[in-house]
Amino acid sequence: MGLQSFFNPKSVAVIGASRQKGKVGYEILMNLVAGGYAGKIFPINPKADDIEGLKCYPDLPSLGETPDLVIVIVPAQFVAAVMEECAKARVKSMIIITAGFKEVGPEGKRLEEEVVRIARRAGIRFIGPNCLGVISPSHKLNASFGGDLPVPGSIAYISQSGALLAAILDLANANGIGFSSLVSIGNKADVNELDLIEAFGSQRETKVIAGYLENITDGNAFVREAEIISGKKPILLMKSGGTEAGAKAASSHTGSLAGGEVAYESAFQRAGVIRCESIKEQFDFAQAFASQPLPKGPKVAVITNAGGPGIMAADAIEQKGLTFARLSDETKAKLAQKLPAAANVHNPVDVLGDALADRYESATEIVLDDPNVDSAIVLLTPQAMTQAKETAEAVAKIAKKKGKPVLACFLGAGKVAAGLQVLRQSGIPQYDSPESAVTTLHAMSEYVRWRTRPKRVVRLFSVNRRKVESIVERHLRQGLLDIGEAEAKDIIEAYGFATPKGSIATTAEQAANIAQQLGFPVVLKIWSPDILHKSDVGGVKVGLNSEQQVRDAFDLMMYRIPKKKPEANILGVLVQEMVRTSGKEVIIGMHRDPRFGPLMMFGMGGIMVEVLKDVAFYLAPLTAEDAKQMLVNTKTYQILKGVRGQEGVDIDAIAEGLQRVSQLVTEFPEIKEMDINPYVVGAPGTTPIAVDARISLEKK
Ligand code: ADP
Ligand code: MG
Repeated sequence: MGLQSFFNPKSVAVIGASRQKGKVGYEILMNLVAGGYAGKIFPINPKADDIEGLKCYPDLPSLGETPDLVIVIVPAQFVAAVMEECAKARVKSMIIITAGFKEVGPEGKRLEEEVVRIARRAGIRFIGPNCLGVISPSHKLNASFGGDLPVPGSIAYISQSGALLAAILDLANANGIGFSSLVSIGNKADVNELDLIEAFGSQRETKVIAGYLENITDGNAFVREAEIISGKKPILLMKSGGTEAGAKAASSHTGSLAGGEVAYESAFQRAGVIRCESIKEQFDFAQAFASQPLPKGPKVAVITNAGGPGIMAADAIEQKGLTFARLSDETKAKLAQKLPAAANVHNPVDVLGDALADRYESATEIVLDDPNVDSAIVLLTPQAMTQAKETAEAVAKIAKKKGKPVLACFLGAGKVAAGLQVLRQSGIPQYDSPESAVTTLHAMSEYVRWRTRPKRVVRLFSVNRRKVESIVERHLRQGLLDIGEAEAKDIIEAYGFATPKGSIATTAEQAANIAQQLGFPVVLKIWSPDILHKSDVGGVKVGLNSEQQVRDAFDLMMYRIPKKKPEANILGVLVQEMVRTSGKEVIIGMHRDPRFGPLMMFGMGGIMVEVLKDVAFYLAPLTAEDAKQMLVNTKTYQILKGVRGQEGVDIDAIAEGLQRVSQLVTEFPEIKEMDINPYVVGAPGTTPIAVDARISLEKK
């Protein structure tokens, strides 16, 4: 593992070690000592001979050796100089605790850049600045001022917020939760979340990677690498909001609907990252992933000594889309033999209020032996005779043998405390409600589903790429970044879309002639590079049935629209064949996220898209499965499939449209945003029509 010296250094120097209690330079040194770190500790402070009995050194050269890890606590303005000294001394790994860099403004940012420059030149990797440090319990290393060393475990934690890390540490220590490592990444000027995820991905003692992030440094690399690591170990992330540049200033439908968070969501999905909504949820998940085998499938059995919690669990299983296991006849017969006559031998298995540990033991064993059961939740309420401790021991003993995940939910406090302790010691995760246990099993089975997903195959359509190249090049050359309806349609036609026939007219007479040639009815649309949403200004007139109606509509538009939009340069109108289909209007769009690249959108289309906001997003390039899943993720899907005897539309054709746009925007990074809205789809077998399209470009 590349960052090994951060977690298992042979020697640690503390530059800025202090004699003064309460100062960070003192606390870190004391944490190192208190944690029982077995390597050499070198406090560096030119003004002190010793600190709490530890010999102090004036500077790095006086150590007579190069420390494996250097922790820096000196004030921000001296950090660059310290970095230079470290470069000279051939130090390779550093933790910069000091704050006062990028987070305080331009001057701090400049300082930080200087530090990065020196480090890069010298090949030094560093964590921070503005961080709490690194904790590695299995190596008894507490190089932080975050709190006491937790017990060793198999969860690695990465936090972009130091304060949150301190809270997590406190929580973990109070509950005996173990970690392989905890890292506060601070400003992540050098080592970032992905470096650590990769390091933990190949670290033997880490089984689960968890973290709290505010942003991701390199979106594309993250998706690529995290996807590989998720295949080996679960990655559980909390991600707080935060506005992302780029999403705000969007002019297309897709752009205005796609906030930065949507891109994160898609990126996490693609990479198999499990998103957690709270610290509690993250710990719920992390403990199960760390201590239990993965479930083979979604079928859950529940064992309980009371009806109420059993029903709560059953409801939650239903709601989450897990399966309530149907026990086999053989299992039921075996249960009936072991349990009193009044017990319920169906799932949820009720061992009754007077159950002692032995009943739990046999019920758990019999249930887990059933091939129809993939996982079990053991519920316990403290009743008069309940043996919380012995039950915990019995459940743990059985769980170890069976190779299926077992989650406990012992409800109560004082009366179950001894049981909880046994569960903790024996690695059976405990939940404070049946719902939390079910939510955790759901996260586990979703992860299994992701891991066993079919290989991604992106279909390549044969298209006229040359044509698009020439339109895009010409626009960029002329500094035109918005491609209007007419040429946007040429582009999508080149990628296999059908569009209504039509041409451009600059006079009423011309418009009438074109209409005559197209055949009635026709549609008239305003043609102006400055009008993005034509209907908003009365710039779309459908169902025109005669030359006279076309002329009138033309005159009316030319009269009204300049009044509404005096600044718009109006070039004429587009006369278009009227698409006559009983089809549905959907939208296919793309917004290029500044961090993760092309983000595809699908939703109910037409002019209502921004009102209804029934849309789904996913990162391009899309596979057929991705495209289908996007459809399924909207409410529109139910309508498209056909409701109450209404015939459905060609779902596969929409999915294909999504894939074609995905190919277009993947092949043309100059396309910044685009919408096909509406994309009119009819019954299966009919050709969908792209009725309107707009594309905007950016210089690459
Ligand atoms: P904009 O989105 O700029 O307002 P559109 O070209 O999408 O303009 O037209 C608005 C609406 O008018 C469409 O959602 C569709 O319902 C209808 N419409 C536009 N063109 C046609 C056409 N050729 N055939 C049938 N309906 C059309
Ligand atoms: Mg439109």
